[in-house]
Formats: sequence, C-alpha cells, structure tokens
Amino acid sequence: MTEPVLRLEAVRKSFGGTLVLRDVDLEVAPHTVTALIGASGSGKSTLLRCVNLLEEIDDGAVFLDGDEITDPRTDADLVRRRIGVVFQAYNLFPHMTVLENVTLAPRRVHRAGKERARERALELLARLGLQDKADAYPDRLSGGQQQRVAIVRALAVEPRLLLLDEITAALDPELVGEVLAVVRDLKDQGMTMVIATHEMGFAREVADQVCFLDGGAVLERGTPEEVFGEPRRARTQAFLARVL
Ligand code: ADP
Ligand code: MG
Repeated sequence: MTEPVLRLEAVRKSFGGTLVLRDVDLEVAPHTVTALIGASGSGKSTLLRCVNLLEEIDDGAVFLDGDEITDPRTDADLVRRRIGVVFQAYNLFPHMTVLENVTLAPRRVHRAGKERARERALELLARLGLQDKADAYPDRLSGGQQQRVAIVRALAVEPRLLLLDEITAALDPELVGEVLAVVRDLKDQGMTMVIATHEMGFAREVADQVCFLDGGAVLERGTPEEVFGEPRRARTQAFLARVL
C-alpha cells in the first residue's frame, strides 16, 4: 500500500480537563479528499489545528509522509511549510495587495527569489480566475474572491497537504459555489486535502472518505455512499437527519 500523506494514531487532546479529541485514528492517502463532518463543537477544527501543530496533542502521534511531526524535536515551522491551511475567516492582510499577500510566505519561508515567487503567484491567481486582482487590496474584493486569494496563498508554498476549515461558512450563499469550484479543481489536479465542512452535498460529491466526528471521536467513517447513504450509527443518522 502507498504510504498515507497523513496518519493520526490515537490522537488525544483536552482543553482544561475536557477531552476534545478521543483517540482519533485517521489515514489520508495521496491525492484523496477527506471530509470531516459533525456538529459544531465535535472537534473538527481542533483536529486540523493539531495536524498543523497549532495545538499540542496530549497523546498519540501524527505522521506526515511517514515523519512523526508530533515528535517534540520536530521543527514546527518546517512542518507548516508542507501544509497549507485556509480558515473560515480569510485573514488577508488589509494593507497589502493580493500579490503581496500571496508572495509573503514563499518569500519568507522558502526564501524563494522575489521574481520566482511573483511568477508562481501570478500563475496561481490566473488558475483561480483572479489574474486581474493581483494589485487590488483585499477590501476591493468580494468575500468569495478573498477566500480564493486565501487558497492561492495556501498553495503558494507548494504544500503536500491542504487543510480547509469551513472555508465557505462566512460567505454569502451566492458566493459559496465559486469557492467550492476551486476545491473541486484542486481535487482534479490531485491535491491531497482534509476538509471540515457543513456543506453536506459538497462533501458527498467531492470526498473519497467521510469521517463523522461526535464528541471528539470518529464515530463513523467510510465512503460518501456508506456514510451518507447507509449510516450505521444512530448518532450519525440523527446528525444527517438534522442537516440534510
Ligand atoms: P468544531 O470545529 O467541530 O466546531 P472545535 O474543534 O472548534 O469543534 O471544538 C471542539 C471543542 O473544543 C469544543 O467544545 C470547544 O469549545 C473546545 N475548544 C476548542 N478550542 C478550545 C480552546 N482553545 N480552549 C478551550 N476549549 C476549546
Ligand atoms: Mg470548527
């Protein structure tokens, strides 16, 4: 079997005595999309933050391409160069143009030449339909455009893995589609992704693997057909009945 890009082994995390991730196991194969679904507070964001080393886990291990990144000797900055992250709030720097926002990390992190970073940024912006926005400031863009810039920024460091946390949750409904279309394209290009989402239709369409989190535990996992079509657990059924 090919080595998974990402592997979580019995990951446990608590905040002030409350267990938020309960022995989570997860494997993400190359060029696949994993959708994390579950009620608000079920631990989706915490799981993603543990993968990106924004939170320290209490027990278990996380492996990226076979390297144990939760080993205390790991250089977290090096790991974050291999993982792109996009959050619900796009967090673009308002005083920088789109191009400056996008080239900041590659220039700082990879010490890529200014020209190389610029070329790659323009290429990515064009791929996401933002070629004419390079010199615009974020406040001149729609929410959907800003979120697409945030995706370009995450891709600019050429990550091995992309983590997307509810990236359409803050968007007006009419802008959701253009952002989901970008995720679809990235999947077609073979990007490995883990997506926390409450867009169930999208998860069903785009995911290779769906994990239902409940109270910090992966209660059910399988193909979209399995989890959405024939959920085995009563709690999964109840959740889907509420959101579908
Ligand atoms: P989801 O993304 O599925 O909505 P979260 O991972 O954000 O869930 O939260 C899981 C649980 O962890 C919630 O009960 C939340 O209140 C708690 N939590 C998350 N982050 C923190 C934190 N920094 N400090 C304390 N509790 C937290
Ligand atoms: Mg969340």
